Amino acid sequence: MGTMLQQAGLNPGDPPMLWNVDHPDRVRKVHRAYLEAGARILLTNTFNGTRFRLSKHGLEGREDELNRAGAQILRAEIDDFLKKAAPGTPAPVVAGDIGPTGELLAPLGKLHPADAADAFTRQAAALIDGGADVIWIETMADMSEVQAAVEGTRRASPDVPIIVTMTFDTHGRTMMGVKPEAAATSLSEWGAAAMGGNCGNGPDEMLAAIQKMHAAVPGALLVAKSNAGMPEFVDGKTVYRASPETMALSALQMREAGARIIGGCCGTTPEHIAAMARAVQA
Ligand SMILES: [Zn+2]
Repeated sequence: MGTMLQQAGLNPGDPPMLWNVDHPDRVRKVHRAYLEAGARILLTNTFNGTRFRLSKHGLEGREDELNRAGAQILRAEIDDFLKKAAPGTPAPVVAGDIGPTGELLAPLGKLHPADAADAFTRQAAALIDGGADVIWIETMADMSEVQAAVEGTRRASPDVPIIVTMTFDTHGRTMMGVKPEAAATSLSEWGAAAMGGNCGNGPDEMLAAIQKMHAAVPGALLVAKSNAGMPEFVDGKTVYRASPETMALSALQMREAGARIIGGCCGTTPEHIAAMARAVQA
């Protein structure tokens, strides 16, 4: 989403969620491109939707509006897609996207877990109100923040499926030192419907994390959403160089390792998703 919105003209420092209200047509166009590429679970444009993140842009008073609009846009685009799709096409899933607060939780930082949980409750409630089928908590590094997000979401809805993906970008662990196998164990205890990894340093490291999660909790429904390669910094921009063919090959490896929900994170364009979908459906 971030990759595509910047291509559509979003300035790197600007809040992407404002486009849910100011330029919903541009956000819908991105969703449509991924739907047509074969994506069957799509994430709302609400990654920075806790009040802590929104407050960096003076938008903290608009958390309900911007999150609800993000879910409504994706719901509307999927409804439209289904109207024109072949009969029997399974309905794609609206995943209400929740990212980290951007704050360190106590005792390491200042954010109290109860305040974090409150913010997640508010975001999840607005996403569900806007039409989210599942809540998708992603790019997480700290298990106490994940716990706050899971508990906060549960308060918004006792039965919405919760999916959690962690970012294992620091020598095979998250930035906060969490190992894939430990994450899988906790997440299955907390009732996550699916779990896995997103973002990070490209498909090879993601594959290793998936293998470890699968070994730790063999019955878990695993998610692999790698970036399109290792991030590289060129002329002040982050670029991802893995080709659609490379990502397609990696999709097959992720499936072999036990992943059942396979997609992409930063740098994964609709062309990448189309190649991955073709590979796993062949
Ligand atoms: Zn990413």
